[in-house]
Amino acid sequence: MTTRSLILIKPDGVKRGLIGKIVERLERPGLKIIGMKMVWIDEDFSKKHYKEHVEKEFYKNLEKFIVSGPIVAIVVEGVEAVENVRKIVGDTEPYKALPGTIRGDFAHHHVEFTNREKKAVMNLIHASANKKEAEEEINLWFSESELHDYSTVHEDHVF
Ligand code: ATP
Ligand code: MG
Repeated sequence: MTTRSLILIKPDGVKRGLIGKIVERLERPGLKIIGMKMVWIDEDFSKKHYKEHVEKEFYKNLEKFIVSGPIVAIVVEGVEAVENVRKIVGDTEPYKALPGTIRGDFAHHHVEFTNREKKAVMNLIHASANKKEAEEEINLWFSESELHDYSTVHEDHVF
């Protein structure tokens, strides 16, 4: 089934100049980008996006990090897009993320280190965890008019 997922290139990915490399990882397997924009969010928006984490101990470090620069927000569409994107992204903790994943190839942070330093786990991207979260997040970040319906060359081969 064709589904949608939200990906955010977090401030570390933008500042490290990794936008192009990360977008390539999504395009290469044939996922279709149907929305993309750069946004600099504030603390209120962070609390909406990370509502499941607001009460957690690490939240204040996460919030400081996520508002520290602009984010590139992307919506992709594809066959089982949520699960496919999570596979491409890799483990939350870059130390555990396998080579070949975005986090495994471009980051190396360890949770104990980041907690000690009062930093967030800098893991370059966010990706929706399941279909329900994907729907909620896409509604939070994009209006219907920012999502585009068009055909890619892949559609003859993939969909
Ligand atoms: P994301 O939601 O950003 O895609 P994820 O779903 O892999 O990441 P979550 O458990 O939703 O991981 O955590 C959200 C974000 O909070 C992580 O990406 C990371 O930046 C940060 N984070 C998660 N766990 C910790 C922790 N124990 N200490 C510090 N930061 C953390
Ligand atoms: Mg998550």
